[in-house]
Amino acid sequence: MSENFTHVNVLGVPFISATQAAFLNTVEARINRRENTFVVTANPEIVMYAREQPAYQKILATADYITPDGIGIIKGAAILKQPLPERITGYDTMIDLLAWANENHKSAYFVGAKPEVIVDVAKVVAKRYPQLQIAGTHDGYFDDFGPIAEEIRKVRPDMVFLAVGFPKQEQLISDYRHVNNGLWMGVGGSFDVLSGHTKRAPKFFQRHHLEWFYRLLSEPTRFKRMLVLPKYLRTVKKSVRQK
Ligand code: UDP
Repeated sequence: MSENFTHVNVLGVPFISATQAAFLNTVEARINRRENTFVVTANPEIVMYAREQPAYQKILATADYITPDGIGIIKGAAILKQPLPERITGYDTMIDLLAWANENHKSAYFVGAKPEVIVDVAKVVAKRYPQLQIAGTHDGYFDDFGPIAEEIRKVRPDMVFLAVGFPKQEQLISDYRHVNNGLWMGVGGSFDVLSGHTKRAPKFFQRHHLEWFYRLLSEPTRFKRMLVLPKYLRTVKKSVRQK
């Protein structure tokens, strides 16, 4: 873990205590210095998964920054009486970094999502961020990441965004981050949203911290995955009583 932020430990996962703005400043400075940087934006599902999978927990321990993605983490920290300033989501961070990259002529490599989605990601990025250099793209349905990693090594992007969902994206970053000194960040379903294939929750849902509810309404098959939320909150409460 890099040291410039204090951390709040939620069920074994150390989250940085930072505002989105402060976090971005730090990451941008590291990209400018071409420092190898692994960012995980973690939600309760990831925290609960890490509890059950020591191998994944170990990967998380090698991340430079773990940020609170999801209101559940903010709630968890509040229950622990160590409040975190705000959510730092993968999607918002990616968008802010793309805008910064555009202003500063940086390059980015995009891996993940379905073939038709990644094609549209490239189109949207080229149109919205014309000064950003697209170092390369690849869909997320590959058998072997090796050749993609080789290309990343060659083109030396400032940033790599990997959108193949957890735990795969963190596993791949951990295995291959050594091939390029720059930012490596897992961004889950963000390419679906960026490309316009999936709609992000309307502002009302975002403001009232109901993005998860909107997502449930639009993708009912996620219901099972969401059952982990109440269990997570119960586990955090229990961890307070045990102290
Ligand atoms: N995906 C992929 N390759 C795979 C499995 C999934 O590229 O082998 C993509 C999928 O198309 C979607 C994203 O990964 O764009 C997963 O999104 P999800 O919202 O499930 O992310 P999570 O919540 O797991 O971070």
